[in-house]
Amino acid sequence: MTDLVIVGAGVIGLSTAYEAATRGAKVTIIDIAQPGKQASWAGAGILTPTNEHTALHPLEKLRGISSRLHEQWAVRLLSETGIDNGYSKCGGLYLARSSGEVAALNGIVDEWRDYEIEFCEISHDELFRRVRPCANLPAETMPKRVFWTPDEAQVENPAHLKSLQKGCRNLGVEFVVEAEFVTIDSTGTKVRTVTAGEHKIEGQTFCFCAGPWTQELLASQNILLPMVPVRGQMLLFKLEQQLFEPIIYEGSRYIVPRRDGHVLVGATIEEVGFDKTTTEPAIEELKCFANSLIPELCPRTFVKAWAGLRPGTYDGFPYMGRLAELENGFVSTGHFKSGLHLSTGSASVINDLFEGKQPEIEMSPFQPNRLRLPANSDR
Ligand SMILES: Cc1cc2nc3c(=O)[nH]c(=O)nc-3n(C[C@H](O)[C@H](O)[C@H](O)COP(=O)(O)OP(=O)(O)OC[C@H]3O[C@@H](n4cnc5c(N)ncnc54)[C@H](O)[C@@H]3O)c2cc1C
Repeated sequence: MTDLVIVGAGVIGLSTAYEAATRGAKVTIIDIAQPGKQASWAGAGILTPTNEHTALHPLEKLRGISSRLHEQWAVRLLSETGIDNGYSKCGGLYLARSSGEVAALNGIVDEWRDYEIEFCEISHDELFRRVRPCANLPAETMPKRVFWTPDEAQVENPAHLKSLQKGCRNLGVEFVVEAEFVTIDSTGTKVRTVTAGEHKIEGQTFCFCAGPWTQELLASQNILLPMVPVRGQMLLFKLEQQLFEPIIYEGSRYIVPRRDGHVLVGATIEEVGFDKTTTEPAIEELKCFANSLIPELCPRTFVKAWAGLRPGTYDGFPYMGRLAELENGFVSTGHFKSGLHLSTGSASVINDLFEGKQPEIEMSPFQPNRLRLPANSDR
């Protein structure tokens, strides 16, 4: 019998497995497909700036803890696996070109100030120094305001997922992947086994981390976990070499340069069910945005587009904790736009819960049953 069975090998499941195995647990991780090929692969790998010490809400504290752990995990994963996950403190540039964007950015700046997150406003000359291609922009498309955040970071998520898988295997985690079907077998309030194709896996503790598919997985146990898949479309370009280092934001769009000259441009936010197709209008809009800031992002350097499904919840907070219906059943999912960032901290707190320890953050906002209507509700 294994100590911990994890269902879903995206960044959340893999990180949970890696942390559990590091703490000495015997772990099996199951996936219906190949590990790390859904949202965790499709995402941009942005780690936004945080301040763990001034954060008030547990989600912000979790973000701060996660930032700290990413820095440590990158070093550990490299030494344990030989895989460089591309973690870098590349800095961020926040641009506003329209009056609406200026107003929205002012709100973000107020928040940075409140939480003592390092930032400063920079001049056009300083922008051109950091992002050379912006020097060629016509005067009418020059940003009205530009802010610099030195603590903005990124991981190259496909490499991070590879390093997590290798790190897990090195620690003895067993993988059961590309399973034909996955079912949960429980008696009373206890999960007994998870069946994955021909494998029947017994465990002490079970954690469900199947992204937006967790809702369907648990519905088979009559457990309601309201979730919504939120599609994000993304573009990839390839430049001869890296022309700039910081992540660039304008409104809800961003440009993420990788060290090898690849550049990601994202992302849409669309509620269209479990549909991962890309659409021409979204691709055109993102191309136009990218080209309006970096002229080198053009048809000649465009490589491809893809889409992924973010695991959304109806209040924007992840589900992390024990399921009320199953004494040995836990969930960690619903990390929406920040699952790559929050994965390290989430792995730490959920493992504390497995061990019966008090995590370093207050977990009540993340309770899996918080969005259910009271039994006597007439709605
Ligand atoms: C375009 C885009 C950009 C993003 N950018 C960022 C970013 O910059 N920074 C950031 O922090 N986050 C970002 N995100 C969000 C982040 O990618 C997600 O929050 C995160 O990947 C969710 O991880 P997960 O492991 O919960 O889900 P997933 O990666 O979806 O993994 C779920 C796994 O469960 C498996 N599974 C499904 N059903 C079953 C079943 N029945 N049985 C067994 N296994 C099953 C799937 O095959 C999959 O491997 C982005 C997302 C998108 C789409």
